[in-house]
Amino acid sequence: MADIEHYLQQVLSGRDLRMEQALDLAEHTESAVLFEAADRLRKKIHGNHFDLCSIINARSGMCSENCRFCAQSSRYQTDISTYDMVSYDEVRRQGKENENAGVARYSLVTAGREVSPEDIDSFGRMYAELGEESDLYFCASMGFLTRDKAEKLVACGVKRYHCNLETCRSFFPEVCTTHTWEQKVETIQIAREAGMDICSGGIIGLGESFRQRLELAFELRELGVFSIPINILTPIPGTPFGDNKELSLSEVLTCIALFRFINPHAVVRLAGGRSQLGEDQYRCFLSGANGAIVGNYLTTSGNNIEEDLAMIKSIGFSAGKLKEE
Ligand code: SF4
Repeated sequence: MADIEHYLQQVLSGRDLRMEQALDLAEHTESAVLFEAADRLRKKIHGNHFDLCSIINARSGMCSENCRFCAQSSRYQTDISTYDMVSYDEVRRQGKENENAGVARYSLVTAGREVSPEDIDSFGRMYAELGEESDLYFCASMGFLTRDKAEKLVACGVKRYHCNLETCRSFFPEVCTTHTWEQKVETIQIAREAGMDICSGGIIGLGESFRQRLELAFELRELGVFSIPINILTPIPGTPFGDNKELSLSEVLTCIALFRFINPHAVVRLAGGRSQLGEDQYRCFLSGANGAIVGNYLTTSGNNIEEDLAMIKSIGFSAGKLKEE
């Protein structure tokens, strides 16, 4: 058996876990013991604060890229509604609804490789206007950035940029060939240099090995990412990964626990795909996760916000205000 208390102390004393130690933990620890230790680690570092955020699909579908999991790629026949640019009224309506429900972070997310400079201006005006009308904390997820676009977003009130790596560097070519993992890292660096903090994670269940899931966790640590969304693949008919086998609960929980050990100071945020776990999704928050996207996701529907928050609070978290801003 792995000496889990030793690893826990190591991480708590600020010494990072190495890959072979993470593998030792995963392979030589009884599952229930691993999940409980990840939960203790989360509590020691983050207390019971739960980090909530919500997103709106600000441009849906018609994407030129070929990410093999994605319903929004124009290369695959999928059953989603497509539209160009969401109206400000809809951005405002959903933002206010989320804010009233106690969800402070709000992100506009666009499908596509990048957003044109003109459209960055249009989205920027939406942020600026909603900023006048709310106390929302704004995030953006708008594909590849240039320095100019990043600076415009910052000027309009965007504080955090989201760009998922999707998967680790070694598996990325199996997932997408129209852009590279390195281009994503470049956008992360541009966003950071412009003054935004970074949200970046990935999707599990794409066909990557367990070790490759851990590689992603280590790569995010190296990039200094402190908000890590973990999506669980929902295989979408019509996409190349539409027939992938869904991950078991135990595979998901093990991954979350290891992400917690490898990235102890990050918010490990459960994102798309969690509702496919049913009530068991809440076990993720007792195995190291301490954040979630609430409401609907981009192309899959989520849980009712009020019910979701009630469940999160019932397992001991306080959810609502932002902790550090
Ligand atoms: S993940 Fe983003 S870039 Fe890739 S196909 Fe979907 S919308 Fe396009």
